[in-house]
Amino acid sequence: MRNAESQHVNPVSPDPCTRDGEKPGCMNGFAVKNNEHETGNAMSQQLGGQPIIILRQGTTRNRGQEAQNSNIAAAKAVANAVRSTLGPKGMDKMLIDGMGDIIITNDGATILKQMDIEHPAAKMMVEIAKTQDDEVGDGTTSAVIIAGELLKNAENLLGQKVHPTVIAEGYQQAAVKALEILSTIAISVKPTDNLMLTHVAETALSGKGAEAYKGLLCDIVVRAVTMVADPDGTVDIGHVNVQKKVGGKVEDTELIEGMVIDKERANPGMPKMVKDAKVLILNAAIEYKKTEVNAKINITRPDQVQAFLDDDEQMVHTMADKIVQSGATVVFCQKGIDDTAQHYLTKAGILAVRRVKKSDSENLARATGATVVSSIDAITRSDLGAAGLVEEKKLSGHEMIYVSGCKNPKAVSIIIRGGSEHVIDDLERGMHDALMVVGEVVKNKKVVAGGGAPETELSLQLRSYASTVGGRIQLAIEAFAAALEIIPRSIAENAGLDPIDMIVAIRAAHEAGNRTFGLDVYEGKPVDMLKAGVVEPLRVKTQAIMSAAEAAVMILRIDDVIASSKAAGPAGGMPPGGMPPGMGDY
Ligand code: ADP
Ligand code: MG
Repeated sequence: MRNAESQHVNPVSPDPCTRDGEKPGCMNGFAVKNNEHETGNAMSQQLGGQPIIILRQGTTRNRGQEAQNSNIAAAKAVANAVRSTLGPKGMDKMLIDGMGDIIITNDGATILKQMDIEHPAAKMMVEIAKTQDDEVGDGTTSAVIIAGELLKNAENLLGQKVHPTVIAEGYQQAAVKALEILSTIAISVKPTDNLMLTHVAETALSGKGAEAYKGLLCDIVVRAVTMVADPDGTVDIGHVNVQKKVGGKVEDTELIEGMVIDKERANPGMPKMVKDAKVLILNAAIEYKKTEVNAKINITRPDQVQAFLDDDEQMVHTMADKIVQSGATVVFCQKGIDDTAQHYLTKAGILAVRRVKKSDSENLARATGATVVSSIDAITRSDLGAAGLVEEKKLSGHEMIYVSGCKNPKAVSIIIRGGSEHVIDDLERGMHDALMVVGEVVKNKKVVAGGGAPETELSLQLRSYASTVGGRIQLAIEAFAAALEIIPRSIAENAGLDPIDMIVAIRAAHEAGNRTFGLDVYEGKPVDMLKAGVVEPLRVKTQAIMSAAEAAVMILRIDDVIASSKAAGPAGGMPPGGMPPGMGDY
């Protein structure tokens, strides 16, 4: 049947064209020939009148300019989707998933993650946002918008018959040069400069739902990050434990210099509050060990049953005794604590919590200075940590254990409060961005001005660099330079300002040597962004430009999209090659 069908398909001869953009007409010829959307027995060749089929039936193939156009269009569509959210006056989006759950956000990465994007090139754009979010936490929208604009400008060049590989090369050169220029305009910051760190946090929160409370939130973020930073300057945001609890007001959001664990006491008889606690963190069960092999025990007399049970109890008693002997007054156990053990610990006045998450116990260890012990026999006094107060408190009707008053805690907690789940979810995303950027500045100690200042400066300097390169590559570098201006343009547009007037004004300021001038969206004129307190980590910019350029180049270089029938069929989530032969032919 496949063979019969294949008779109708025009055999595709090997492409005689070298696809060199220098030859006018060649690209067109290529495009016309391949503009047909091939399906079914794609990629067939004639051999003595007999077609040879190398792809499975149902495979779709999209080649040449058509493939390029559709990829570029998809990538641009993704960039357009998030563009209106950029900047301090960007709007939010409401996303509703298949289950009817709602997310309201302004965060590029979150928006794209929630949108069920199918097109492969569009998915690559989503990847940029994800990488940006994982690496630096902020600048996700910017990265995607820049990539979209790079592709839009590339499309113009393709229209002028500049070959895609020339554009790709120009873009790569321009990206390298851009990083170089950025490092020259970056400003060094002391990790103890709390005012600068606060400005960095505020810039990350601007335009987000959290902005209204940025005074309180930025203060919390800066204190949290500086506390958990290691002496060598490394910061792991994982040591800031963020808990969300619906209820109260956003103003009730607080930083606890210690840990808050979403657990309750193992037994209601245990004390609710322990002052000057000696904290033991245990990665071992406090219960009798079950035999690991199948064992049979022959019991012939009733007193043997009792002796057997007594033995188990004795074992647990010894364990509990060792814990009491160690001097611990609070125990956090990653595993279980059985009833017998609970009884002995309660009798000793110990507050114990069981089944604590591994990440929580690691943070507890950092907060209290304890060591996680994995064997009850090995507990020593030096393994214990200290906390001024360990207390079980109710928060919105839910028991939580607060470990506070820690000396020099290297892990802290933030409890986010707010009237509804949507509010605190958005606050959490904003806090995450702010924590990441402040951590980044403490780590790498470099910032750049925001508000479109670095993009304008890069654009100017790249234009003059382009003129030193010459040739067709110059066009690509100029296109790259122009693409970066999409950032100030979008910030202006979203603030209801005239983008052309604003770009011209910012450019003029930069030409006059004011490298840190960006757009004041409230006044509608260029101002010194450093003075205005709009600053971002250098790495937010370098990462955005790098990943945008990489994605644009990758998309540009594609001239053949071959989709197997599963990928082309209804979205079922089957991985490529995941279905047995024949199953895809419906
Ligand atoms: P992203 O996901 O790219 O971080 P945002 O919506 O957070 O997107 O917008 C970031 C852009 O807004 C950056 O270029 C930043 O410099 C700029 N920006 C932030 N705050 C201000 C402000 N107060 N005035 C002008 N520009 C600002
Ligand atoms: Mg941002």
